[in-house]
Order: sequence, then C-alpha cells, then structure tokens
Amino acid sequence: QRPPRPERHPLQPARSADTDFFWDGAARGELRIRRCTGCGALRHPPGPLCPRCRSTGADHVTASGAGTVYSHVVHHHPPVPGRTAPFVVAVVELPEGVRVTGNVVGADPGEVYVGMPVRLEFERVDDGLVLPQWRPGPGGRRPARPRPLPRTSITAQALATRDFQSVHHDPGAARAQGAADVFMNILTTQGLVQRYATDWAGPAARVRRIAIRLGAPNHAGDALLLTGTAERTGGAAEVAVRGANSLGAHVTGTVTVEEEG
Ligand code: ZN
Repeated sequence: QRPPRPERHPLQPARSADTDFFWDGAARGELRIRRCTGCGALRHPPGPLCPRCRSTGADHVTASGAGTVYSHVVHHHPPVPGRTAPFVVAVVELPEGVRVTGNVVGADPGEVYVGMPVRLEFERVDDGLVLPQWRPGPGGRRPARPRPLPRTSITAQALATRDFQSVHHDPGAARAQGAADVFMNILTTQGLVQRYATDWAGPAARVRRIAIRLGAPNHAGDALLLTGTAERTGGAAEVAVRGANSLGAHVTGTVTVEEEG
C-alpha cells in the first residue's frame, strides 16, 4: 500500500537545473539572485548564460529583502486555482539591481502603488513549495495626497467633452478673465463626481441622478481630492461627494445610484 500523496497546490513552478537554486533558497527563506562568476553581474530571471559576458559560470547572492513596487496589476479574472481574486501581481525592484515578480499581500489591492516600499516574506504553499511574497514595508502606506493636474489634462478633458471655450485651453485667455491658469470644465468635474460614486458602488450600479454645485475653480497645477460618504436606502444609495483643492471646495454634489435588475 502506497502512502497518501501530500496535498499539492494546483499551481507549481516549472523547475529546471537553472532554477532549482532559486526554489531551494525559497524553501530556506532566502530570495536568491543568480550571479555570473565571470563578470559578477546579477540576473533575474535566471538563465543559463550571462547576458553581459556570455559566461555559463554562476553562483548566487541572497537578496536583502527590501524592495519597491516597480509595476503591478490587480488580477480579477479568470479564476486562478488556489488563489482568491482580486490579488496583486507586482514587479518588485530590488536594491541589488534586479526586478522580480511576486504577489503583494497584506494590502488592499487599491492601496498598492508604483513606488510603494515592500518587504520580502515567504509563504509556505504546500510541502514542497515556498513562494517569495511581498508586504507593504515601513512607511508603505500612500499618503492621501492628490497629484497636481497638468495643464494638458485640463485641456484634453475639456476637448474630450466637446467644450471648446478658450479658458480651458488658452492660459492667456484664462488670465484675461482673472483666472490663474486654464481650469477644469464643468462636464469633467461632473464626470469625476459620477465616477467617484460608481467606483464605490461597483459595476452593477446605474446612475439615476446627479446634482453638483461648483465652488472654487480647479486650475492647472492644482490638485483635486475627492472624498465622500454613502447612505443606502433599499436598493439605492445616495453618495455625497466633495472635491477640494488648494482654494477650498471645488465641487459638492450627490449621486443617486441603483443596483441594476
Ligand atoms: Zn557575466
């Protein structure tokens, strides 16, 4: 009688003579990076040849465990065996000078951003597989600070909403009317308020009503921060949105959303 097979995770990496050192390292809690013994260059993913000097000689170094999110995607679909969507797949840049892929865990997918400092950790997936993973590091939470709007964004938004008034694309015309620079047009503001509500409500929601009141202009170079609260009543919700910039309230409004069907 054969012993029962150990539980294996449905997704297993393809191992080879070139990658065994990496997985052996992970099993010991080390993130190993291939090093060329000919010229000392580090490379990842590990291949049989040094891309710099073509040497086949190689050993490895162990990464410090620090990293920065270089790029990332949030995986929603299709389903992945053994994983619960949504999850984050990131390219993490290491101070050693290579980039590795891995999941960012311990953070809401929406909190992950390019430049986020992350720390290495290891997840034991099954008896034979340990995966290097990444978790937000010290100071890894993004400050709630909006980015300044470039002038080209203000202009492109106005043109995209077929608003050709000069104050949205001509800084001289805007200044002649007493504005500091070109400023956001109303339809863009309305679109941002609407999107804030639908981002909160999800893809099944339909907008039934939107009412906004404009305040201070939103000039190029300024930054707009949208905040809101939501109140559910039956199958609908009222989302109260406020958009503020350095001058104060740019917009206040309410959006009524309903679940479709
Ligand atoms: Zn080399």
